[in-house]
Parts: sequence; structure tokens; C-alpha cells
Amino acid sequence: KTTRELLLSRIRDVPDYPKPGVVFKDITPLLADPEAFTALTEALAELCVRYGATKIVGLEARGFILAAPVAVRAGLGFVPVRKAGKLPGATLSQAYALEYGTAEIEVHAEDLAAGDRVMVIDDVLATGGTAEASLELIRRAGAEVAGVAVLMELAFLSGRDRLKTALRGAPLEAL
Ligand code: 5GP
Repeated sequence: KTTRELLLSRIRDVPDYPKPGVVFKDITPLLADPEAFTALTEALAELCVRYGATKIVGLEARGFILAAPVAVRAGLGFVPVRKAGKLPGATLSQAYALEYGTAEIEVHAEDLAAGDRVMVIDDVLATGGTAEASLELIRRAGAEVAGVAVLMELAFLSGRDRLKTALRGAPLEAL
């Protein structure tokens, strides 16, 4: 089995979650399988090294689960990007559009600075709105974007197109 086959075999389709008509990609079987979780961690850490990252941003909540072991494996610091209102210190905030309404994410301003090259890690790229907002936060903090790395890209939602401008040539890798 290739790594890709192993990872795919541990992602479960859950129909009609969180609402009718949506097929949710559930990564909990992958997390529960040490061989698959290790393979995923190593593949993501390799991308961080390849693109010269000096810091790892994880996107709440499943992005945290992946980004933390990747940061340890790559020997880099981990920075959480959280939903608004969860971080205790001084934050930068970025709002972004959802299908209905808006959402807002935040980062501790002191966690990112000029000279940092940041890799953004999440489990799934869907519409790309969350990742796009995170790139905005990273740049507003004065840091540079090394790239975005996800386990899975839902290509039919065209997140890659939405991210194109914000990436400014930085790589988007989906395993
Ligand atoms: P986007 O902002 O790209 O539309 O949505 C991406 C965010 O929603 C990610 O943080 C991701 O965790 C979550 N997400 C959206 N769809 C799915 C899905 O089918 N499975 C999982 N695991 N997460 C999803």
C-alpha cells in the first residue's frame, strides 16, 4: 500500500453530516490507527521541511490534532489559529464569508513575527475560506507564508481557486 492508499483507507464518509446532502470526511479512523497517523505526520513534516517552514500554524480544531505532532517531528514551534474569543492574549482577528453569514479566526499577535516562514496545516480544505483567512492573519502579523498542507482537498468545492491569490505563489499540498 502507498501512503496515499493507506490514508484514504482510513477516512470514512459520513452521509448527511452535519446536514442533509453533505458527505462529511471523518478522519477519526485515521487518528485511531497508529500506522496511518504516523505516516500522515511524517508526510506533513516532510512538506514543512521541503518548503523551509520555521513555524507551524494549525487551524482549529482538527488542524490542531495534525499540526501538533508535525511541529514536534519537524522540530518547529506550533501556533494555534482559533475561532474568535478563545485566545486569552492580544490577538489579530480576521473575518471571512461562509455560505450563510461570516466566521472569524484569531491568532496571538506575539506568536508570529517578521522572519517567520509559516506552514498552515489542516485536515480538510473545503471552500478554502478558513485557510484564506489564516494566510491573511499570517501576513498581517508580518510573517511569510511557506505554504498550506492538508490531508485532503475536496476539489469539487474549488478551494484551490479561492486560495490562489492569497497564496501568492506559495504551494498548496494535499496528500
Ligand atoms: P473551508 O473553510 O475550506 O470551507 O472549510 C474547511 C474547514 O472545515 C476545515 O477546518 C475542516 O476541518 C472543516 N471541514 C469542512 N468539511 C469537512 C469534512 O468533510 N471533513 C472534515 N474532517 N472537516 C471538514
